[in-house]
Amino acid sequence: MLKEMDIGETLKDAGRRPTPQRVMILSAIRGSGGHVTAEEILRKVRKEYTFIDIATIYRTLQLFKRLGLVSEIDLKQGSTRYEIAEKEKHHHLVCSGCGKSFYLDHKRFIEPLRLALLNDFGFEADLEHFAVSGLCSQCRASGKTSSNDSKGGR
Ligand SMILES: [Zn+2]
Ligand SMILES: [Zn+2]
Repeated sequence: MLKEMDIGETLKDAGRRPTPQRVMILSAIRGSGGHVTAEEILRKVRKEYTFIDIATIYRTLQLFKRLGLVSEIDLKQGSTRYEIAEKEKHHHLVCSGCGKSFYLDHKRFIEPLRLALLNDFGFEADLEHFAVSGLCSQCRASGKTSSNDSKGGR
């Protein structure tokens, strides 16, 4: 886990001032060890920094995204979640039967797809961080069907 000082350095390297809000927001995401919503970040940061508001959180998250510090994902649970961007890309399989999510390795599963799209279509696909929805093996075994009927509708 990054210490607060390292977070400050990361921001400085990116040419941004490590203001207390920025450091706290980044460390709240880092500390969660996973994917958090803006509301969860707000609740965490507010414990120390009572006058911060959700608009500041969103603005800071957009900044972090542009700087490549944080990546955004829609895990099909209603709200966008944020995660510290890692050098090794990853994705998720999300079960629409039980809500469980599984880690999907980029190199093994997605990189071949990216290369195939580039070769066959000359298309540079944006495959940063995403979720594939479907049914997990347990749900399939117990005969559940997808509760998510809407096909690709947002
Ligand atoms: Zn992720
Ligand atoms: Zn399932």
